[in-house]
Amino acid sequence: MTDLTRRRFSELAGASLLSLAATPLFAPAALGQTKPKLVVIGGGPGGGTVARYVNKEGAGAIEVTLIEPQRRFTTCFFSNLHVGGYRNFASITHGYDKVRKEGVNVAHEMVTAIDRDKKQVVLSGGRRLPYDRLVVAPGIDIKWDSVPGYSEAAAQTMPHAWKPGPQTQLLVKKLNALKDGDLIVMIAPPNPYRCPPGPYERASMFAHVLKSKGHKKSKIVILDPKPNFSKQAVFTEGWEKHYPGMIEWQDPKVHGGIKGVDPKTGEVKTDLATHKAKLVNVIPAQMAGKIARDANLANDSGFCPIDPASMKSKMDTNIFVVGDACIPGDMPKSAFSANSQAKVAAMVIRGELANARTFPARYSNTCWSLIETDDDIKIGANYEATADKIGTVAGSGFVSQRGEPADVRKKNYQESVDWYNGIVADVFG
Ligand SMILES: Cc1cc2nc3c(=O)[nH]c(=O)nc-3n(C[C@H](O)[C@H](O)[C@H](O)COP(=O)(O)OP(=O)(O)OC[C@H]3O[C@@H](n4cnc5c(N)ncnc54)[C@H](O)[C@@H]3O)c2cc1C
Repeated sequence: MTDLTRRRFSELAGASLLSLAATPLFAPAALGQTKPKLVVIGGGPGGGTVARYVNKEGAGAIEVTLIEPQRRFTTCFFSNLHVGGYRNFASITHGYDKVRKEGVNVAHEMVTAIDRDKKQVVLSGGRRLPYDRLVVAPGIDIKWDSVPGYSEAAAQTMPHAWKPGPQTQLLVKKLNALKDGDLIVMIAPPNPYRCPPGPYERASMFAHVLKSKGHKKSKIVILDPKPNFSKQAVFTEGWEKHYPGMIEWQDPKVHGGIKGVDPKTGEVKTDLATHKAKLVNVIPAQMAGKIARDANLANDSGFCPIDPASMKSKMDTNIFVVGDACIPGDMPKSAFSANSQAKVAAMVIRGELANARTFPARYSNTCWSLIETDDDIKIGANYEATADKIGTVAGSGFVSQRGEPADVRKKNYQESVDWYNGIVADVFG
């Protein structure tokens, strides 16, 4: 998968079937007739994509309302590049003006409840919005108590930065204040979590900043509850090449168990040792956003089961769950996945509400990670609905290999930039 242009991105993400430019295959609602109503909760890559695709491709036949509390959305994806100094904060922050101009009703409020019996959502301002179909795409919530001593208040001292915005800015501020010889400790999350390679790309970006500042003695210790991680072989090769001796990854066999953190002292305790760090990045366990759990759309895993052929909730056939909040089978939780799932949901919704033609669900994902300037690695696959999950299409998977030439890695980076430009255009117009 080389030369990933915007057009190619659209094809890979399933948009070839659902091109925004495609002529609607159904008659728009007759004048005066009440339009069917779609309400979308969450304006990230999952919800934002559904809202735009249903609105544009439905050519006004479906009334689309997007509820997102934030006026400006900072992307988690590419936030590690901001940490590394490759992107400024403004470049990863986007608004909804174009989405609104295209005809989507955008309300900057929280949804406080879903009344599934009445098919209504309740907004923080008190309004009740009826829906014919509802998309729930609230992303993740942090499981604060998964790391003893950690809490929402502690995140002001030991940022997680796994939800973007002020947390990312705090992390960058703390990183830039470090002196040579200071210690960074990252606590990596257990599966499943958003962006499997994300913690390890972030550690690479920490190292890139320290190296750029001439640090010789600073160290980064990653305490992992998992025995292995995404793209491990190529990450560790890159760390040895670019940052020898700087990044130390410890699995449970080495650290013996993560006992907890003390935000007052900056200490992190494991069975093996107590680390006193100047920067502690705690990335706790995760679950579906509160609104999905409160509406009983999640199971015991904390995430929401879906029908792999349609992205419909297994708990309610009028509701779709896309993005990080769902249980995506073999797909990782990523913006690429959320965008791909959203296109399937948009197609099914147009089929049900406007008699548009539908096709078998196809999904895809690629996750790129930058290790050092122009040294970018990737992993990805195509997916399809199987009887019980979204499963990997046999033979479609690919992953970067050790020892690849520099031009391959540089091309990966350009692909990732093209992908970013493509997906933000898809979500925010
Ligand atoms: C450091 C980092 C790096 C990453 N890098 C990549 C990458 O390179 N590539 C990639 O593909 N993915 C990457 N990801 C993962 C990606 O950011 C997520 O998978 C993606 O954002 C999920 O999209 P979503 O729409 O499900 O949720 P979100 O993006 O979290 O959007 C959910 C939205 O719902 C809103 N919301 C929540 N509750 C309510 C409510 N009750 N009412 C109304 N609105 C609500 C929130 O305000 C939020 O805006 C990265 C993540 C991290 C943390």
